[in-house]
Amino acid sequence: MVITNRNISKAIKEVKFMLNKEKRLSLSGSRYKSDPFKLLVSTILSARTKDETTARIVDNLFKTIKSPYDLASINIRTLERLIFASGFYRNKARNLKDMAKVLIIDYDGKVPDTINELVKLPGVGRKTANLIVTSAFHKQGICVDTHVHRIMNRWGYVKTKTPNDTEIALRKKLPKRYWAVINFLLVKFGKTICKPINPRCNECRLNKICQYAVKRH
Ligand code: SF4
Repeated sequence: MVITNRNISKAIKEVKFMLNKEKRLSLSGSRYKSDPFKLLVSTILSARTKDETTARIVDNLFKTIKSPYDLASINIRTLERLIFASGFYRNKARNLKDMAKVLIIDYDGKVPDTINELVKLPGVGRKTANLIVTSAFHKQGICVDTHVHRIMNRWGYVKTKTPNDTEIALRKKLPKRYWAVINFLLVKFGKTICKPINPRCNECRLNKICQYAVKRH
């Protein structure tokens, strides 16, 4: 048994039901969604860092950094101190400084609104690019991180090796009405129920149709 386009709507409905039950459906997305620059900076800083830590860092950072020009001119040691609590803060500080320079030189200080342009920026991969185009510019994209990649493969909906491959497969297959919400739902589902290690299959409402659970029993 696998999840296909015949039952993907049911699967997503069940995910929503389970998250509702766990009280995990509140919308806690970035408060900087309407500002592409701030959303880009927060997304880069969020890698390998807890959501609450990122929120604290960016709230403090954006008191002094409000544009690519501020970011390009801030001393790198000062920036490192400001983002110290974030994982890999040295790499991130360097990427942020480089990104600010590219934004100023190539994009007139504005964040580009296409995936192809966004991935040219230092520190920006397809996951971040998709998030920016969908959240800040309201364009179509599918943000695939490790949770979306893992769960879609466990379901048997795709059979892929990397998150980028999963994004390509989902673009061909996943009904467009789910593109913008799939990341939000599966990240929460992946953190609470379909966890990387010891997924809670016994209590999961998908365990009769999910390839991973069916194969295990
Ligand atoms: S049955 Fe298990 S592997 Fe499948 S979606 Fe549920 S928790 Fe994840």
